[in-house]
Formats: sequence, C-alpha cells, structure tokens
Amino acid sequence: MHEMSIAMSIVDAVADRARQEGCSRVTGVDLVVGRLSGVEAESLRFCFEAAARNTPVEGAELLIEEREPSGTCDACGAHFPVAGYHASCPACGLFRVRIVSGEELAVKSITIE
Ligand SMILES: [Zn+2]
Repeated sequence: MHEMSIAMSIVDAVADRARQEGCSRVTGVDLVVGRLSGVEAESLRFCFEAAARNTPVEGAELLIEEREPSGTCDACGAHFPVAGYHASCPACGLFRVRIVSGEELAVKSITIE
C-alpha cells in the first residue's frame, strides 16, 4: 500500500531524529499533507500506527494538517486556490496554472521526551 511505505519512511525519519537528540520516545508528530499529495490522511493515520509499533514512535499522537492546494497563473500572475490539476485561471481564464502548494508531505515538528 502506498500510504504504508510513506508511513514507514516517516516513522524512520522521526525515530532517527529522536535518536540524534538522545531521546528514547516520541510523543507527538505533526505532519503537513497537501490535498494533491495523493495521500489519504485517514489511511496514513492507520498505517502510521502500524508502522510505529515497536519503535520509539509507538503511541505518538499524530496530527495531520491538511493543506488546500493553490496555484499561480503564469499568464497574469494571479494566485488562487485550486481544486486540482488542470485548473483554469479565475482571473484570465487561461490554462497556465502552476501548482504552488498542496503537493507537500512533510513532518512539521515532533515532540520528544
Ligand atoms: Zn491568469
């Protein structure tokens, strides 16, 4: 499953970070997930719990901040929220929209003991 491999790499990265800080337990993980990232938040949450088992991340509270996508028009420079790819510019109507956010999938912060 797509979300499972993502969840495992997040758990790995977070556990590494905790180890570097000399901490044995992670109590919270804040994620930013764009709605165009192709990741379903609920299924990621489920996979995260499974991936965290028997790691320092087990039992950590997962916060997922879902970010609405937005784009910029290369023709007129307008910036606006978009529903997805292949959006047209609401200002000039051209299909020259570049997605500038909404594809992110990142660990924003972690809480460690
Ligand atoms: Zn435009």
